[in-house]
Amino acid sequence: MTTLTVENYLKSILQHELQTDENLMSTGKIAEAMEVSPGTVTSMLKTLSESGLAEYRPYEGAILTESGRKLAMRMLRRHRLIELFLVKTLNLTWDQVHEEAEDMEHSVSDFLVEKIDEFLGRPQFDPHGDPIPTEEGVMRGTTREIVTLASCHPGQKFRLARVTDQEGEFLRYLSESNLNIDTEGVVETRNVSGGIMTISIEDQSLSLGLTAAESLLVEALS
Ligand SMILES: [Zn+2]
Repeated sequence: MTTLTVENYLKSILQHELQTDENLMSTGKIAEAMEVSPGTVTSMLKTLSESGLAEYRPYEGAILTESGRKLAMRMLRRHRLIELFLVKTLNLTWDQVHEEAEDMEHSVSDFLVEKIDEFLGRPQFDPHGDPIPTEEGVMRGTTREIVTLASCHPGQKFRLARVTDQEGEFLRYLSESNLNIDTEGVVETRNVSGGIMTISIEDQSLSLGLTAAESLLVEALS
């Protein structure tokens, strides 16, 4: 039986790996993600290493072992299924579900997670467009091609597929601008030196900073 803290460390290292394609997460980055001191991280990494969940490399950081990875995938699966379940059944909004899922992912039983997955029809993506792992720890929905909205040129039609900045304030801003997962639009202008682009969705024009547009992943439509 692992503790909540152990589960959060493993999840954090896996998320870093999925975002950057690098297995190794530095002690400093883990400290930042977990909001603790590097000293705390070092002692935790030693514990993870002793339990066979991560390989600790002094002065470098940590890499998940096979069993650590499996456990972390399981946490991501729980988290993302719970988020979608709360949106679909209780009509919570996509900015409300993360905190709830952070708590529930540690306490829900495997039986209930399986029932939720079945109830939702084995969904591919959570409310933020993040892929949901199967029970075997394989990501669903990884075949689609997505690029950042910031990289799209004027005239490009797109469908919003995933939002990587999941701060509540940013998500609420997107909703208020009618920009949700599966919303379609077209790029109107893109000014790299000014750091701004405009897109049009449903006959309305919207200006976005390129930094914000970096965290919007879209499917390019022809
Ligand atoms: Zn979340």
